[in-house]
Amino acid sequence: FRSSTFTSSQVDAALITPRATKLLIDGHFVDAVSGKTFQTIDPRNETPICNIAEADAADVDKAVKAARKAFDHGHWPRMGGKERAKIMYRFADLLEEHAEELAHLETLDNGKPLFFSKVADVPLTVSHFRYFAGWADKLHGHTIPVSTSHLAYTLHEPIGVVGQIIPWNFPLLMAAWKLAPALAVGNTCVLKVAEQTPLTGLRLAQLAMEAGFPPGVLNVLSGFGETAGQALAMHNQVDKIAFTGSTEVGKTIQMASGMSNLKRVSLELGGKSAAIVCADADVDKAVEESHFALFFNMGQCCCAGSRLYVHEDIYDEFVEKAVARAQKRTVGDPFTDVEQGPQVSEEQMKKVLGFIGKGVEEGATMRVGGARVGDKGYYVEPTVFTDVEPNMSIYKDEIFGPVMTIMKFSDLNDVIDRANANPYGLAAGVWTSSLDTANTVSRALRCGTVWINCYNNFDDALPFGGYKMSGIGRDKGMYALENYTQVKTVCTPLNNPTW
Ligand code: NAD
Repeated sequence: FRSSTFTSSQVDAALITPRATKLLIDGHFVDAVSGKTFQTIDPRNETPICNIAEADAADVDKAVKAARKAFDHGHWPRMGGKERAKIMYRFADLLEEHAEELAHLETLDNGKPLFFSKVADVPLTVSHFRYFAGWADKLHGHTIPVSTSHLAYTLHEPIGVVGQIIPWNFPLLMAAWKLAPALAVGNTCVLKVAEQTPLTGLRLAQLAMEAGFPPGVLNVLSGFGETAGQALAMHNQVDKIAFTGSTEVGKTIQMASGMSNLKRVSLELGGKSAAIVCADADVDKAVEESHFALFFNMGQCCCAGSRLYVHEDIYDEFVEKAVARAQKRTVGDPFTDVEQGPQVSEEQMKKVLGFIGKGVEEGATMRVGGARVGDKGYYVEPTVFTDVEPNMSIYKDEIFGPVMTIMKFSDLNDVIDRANANPYGLAAGVWTSSLDTANTVSRALRCGTVWINCYNNFDDALPFGGYKMSGIGRDKGMYALENYTQVKTVCTPLNNPTW
């Protein structure tokens, strides 16, 4: 690993100066009603970046009322899809024009290497708005033949005011996954960004106003979960809530719906995804791709391939190579040329180090890593465990950090059962050269995505979401439109029944 003292990077100050720190409500950038602010912290060095307006229930109420007015009486849900698409394409162009600034802000606030902000987070965000702009004029219902003499058809209508709550691991991209389909089909939105990473969401809000979204159509709030988030989930004038984050909080979102107005709920929650490497896999390719599956984004991916099962015939070779690969992983200031930056926050760093400690305590073998890197910033060494047993917390629980666990298997049916014996079901990977094995495993696994001989493909068109406790509903692709539309049946008698 890099030494604990990082060479300070030369970062263009203009690109890391936050310009957006206020709430967007009804087309205006405003302070919180309470006047309160909170600090967002640079995870590289633990110093405050700037103060951000702190929304709570009063601001949520204002934003929901603005979104309500824009939906009930505004032009947005009533305008043609093409017209909405035009604004969304313009917005995507503006995001692209500001790609450098957005990538820098994302790295500053979240700690992810600038390289990934530039090649993944920002371009995927831009293309997501374009992808759903393309759907805005293509969503329609069906005409349905009925046994009586009636004309019957369905309309696919927007749900109304949509509350959206997103996490800190992909701040821009999660905003895009939520906003793009909802806006394309004519809903109005109140987005609450994560308190750890408010900078890009608020900047996106400014660019949205430049693009020409009418006032109230998009409202963006920064604030904490238990105050602003909870108020949004409980609000009686919110018609639908979409949430990405922990399974624990996901349950409270579902309960809040039941305790308020039964608003529709979609949830994208945690995971403990299985990565299965068969004896006939290309070992070097599988080592590299399973490394990426787990360590990408400092291990802070809901779909991280965090239970790695390797066939006994190739196990020793695989482990040796996987450990060597983790050892080679470069860790350091994310504005320099590294693969891994800091974890997002002190809380997450401590949580990850706590899991590593438990792994050792419970008897797993730590092959590499295991410690904090340096004493400033939230850096954790890439860590690999073997001899991991099903009762250990590093096997059962979502770690959300750079900690790989490798298990051995001998029989395909057995590894399928072990992969499925987990309350989560978000994603999985399988590496094999046999089409039969790939087909068998991909059908047998109880999870929302299976990547075969690859991992982490996030194309806009591919639906993404969970089986079991990993969530309800699908983000991305045409399936995401179902999250944000409802079906109306229209039926009327025909005047001349013979035709
Ligand atoms: P979290 O679930 O606490 O936070 C996610 C979002 O929900 C944030 O915007 C937060 O402010 C909000 N929130 C928190 N409590 C809320 C409440 N009571 N009501 C309404 N909104 C609330 O996630 P976290 O604490 O940031 O991370 C904890 C764990 O969540 C992680 O370690 C990981 O297991 C999981 N996680 C999953 C994803 C994912 O993409 N599926 C992303 C981030 C975190």
